[in-house]
Amino acid sequence: MIVSLKADANPAEVLRALVSRGLWVSQVERNASGEPRHYVIASYSAATSAEELATIEGISSVTTSKVEHPRVTAQGPVVDVAGVSVGAGAPAFMVGPCSVESEAHIREIAERLAPLGVAFLRGGAYKPRTSPYAFQGHGEVALGWLRRAAEATKMKVVTEALSEADVPAVAELADLVQVGSRNMQNYALLKAVGRTGRPVLLKRGMSATMDEWLHSGEYLLAGGSRGVIFCERGIRSFDDATRNLLDLGAVALLAHVHKLPVIVDPSHGAGRRDLIVPLGRAALAAGAAGLMIETHADPASALSDGPQAIPLGEITAVMRELRGSGARSAGALSPNGGAS
Ligand code: PEP
Ligand code: MN
Repeated sequence: MIVSLKADANPAEVLRALVSRGLWVSQVERNASGEPRHYVIASYSAATSAEELATIEGISSVTTSKVEHPRVTAQGPVVDVAGVSVGAGAPAFMVGPCSVESEAHIREIAERLAPLGVAFLRGGAYKPRTSPYAFQGHGEVALGWLRRAAEATKMKVVTEALSEADVPAVAELADLVQVGSRNMQNYALLKAVGRTGRPVLLKRGMSATMDEWLHSGEYLLAGGSRGVIFCERGIRSFDDATRNLLDLGAVALLAHVHKLPVIVDPSHGAGRRDLIVPLGRAALAAGAAGLMIETHADPASALSDGPQAIPLGEITAVMRELRGSGARSAGALSPNGGAS
């Protein structure tokens, strides 16, 4: 149940009135877009009717909804990211290195990608790594490198906020804030990212159900995010033949049943570069609104995820294949396996 307050309402008094009826209430303030609206979400109670709540002083409307994630359900299939519509037709490509390694490194990649019509430059400044001894990302300085490379080439930036502490810097420099798989259910982070108002790329947790994923999207929208784009990047399975199990059923479900924008990341999904073209094509056929792909000028020396990076020298061919105009067979890329 969503209770919207009048502009001149006293939120504390409304809260008291709701609590006195035995309702569990949480108050969410929309602050990013500057709207002076408050929402109070109360638990559903058979004893309390929407009509009765609507008579409380200060309440403008009461919406009852049977769905548990009403804002996600209401969002629709298109999210605007700094003037680029994701989900509106042509696939959105989000391409770049796993980690931003230096200013020259990201600049070279951006200059190669921009002429290919890649709208989003991706790259991690803060890296979630399994081992604490692995490269952790260059942090805030890398955000600046990424932003400058994107501005010079007229691309948009998508990069991950790994912790609440990173959120202000990431939100300032990113057009699309990424929440990574390991953080999909970090609710404090979701709330902090939501408060920035930025659109979000919400990667699926590696063991997350569809319902948990949608609820995490709801956290973001309830907190103030202007839009949520879901990103399927593979889930855990019993089989380690590929790094993860890319769940294209979930993609079709999100795109065709829930009518939400979903991006597919075959790089983390497969963990090997030679599967990116076939999986990327399959993802687009399943309804994906775009693809996230890792690339590197010299994958063998990459500081993270080299085995799944498309060599920069092959990215033009890969993009041609994914756009459906190439005739090369799927196995023609330099083979590689494993993942870091
Ligand atoms: C990434 O995109 O760089 C990343 C770490 O992805 P994931 O959270 O899906 O593992
Ligand atoms: Mn990676």
